[in-house]
Amino acid sequence: MRVSLRQIVSRGLRGRCPNCGGPLLFDRGLRLRDQCPTPGCGLRWQRSAGYYLGAAVWNYTIVVVLVLPLVLLAVLGGLISQRTAYILAPVLALLLPFVFYKASWSLWMMSYYFFLPHELPANANELIPTRDDE
Ligand SMILES: [Zn+2]
Repeated sequence: MRVSLRQIVSRGLRGRCPNCGGPLLFDRGLRLRDQCPTPGCGLRWQRSAGYYLGAAVWNYTIVVVLVLPLVLLAVLGGLISQRTAYILAPVLALLLPFVFYKASWSLWMMSYYFFLPHELPANANELIPTRDDE
């Protein structure tokens, strides 16, 4: 059964398997499963060495885009002192990557398969348009 781009995004935002919509990507805690546990799916989530870099980029982006502006606005708005910001910033920089770890993996899988949906096993038999088809 073909997986649409809408399904890929929906499943990615809910932390589900992009191929079958099966259970969450993680076993328990922060341990990423090797592949989807749904019978008949088996999508491998560690595709190759270095594949995790996409999740790391998402994690870094989430922390920088969300936290840095909030800390700057808090200091500029007088909500917190500069001294508090100097203490808060490194604490958040160390803590938040763990908080957003699962979300960053899910977002990485979603964005990867959003742009390469034909690599999902469910879409493997779909024809990929080529220049000859135009
Ligand atoms: Zn699956």
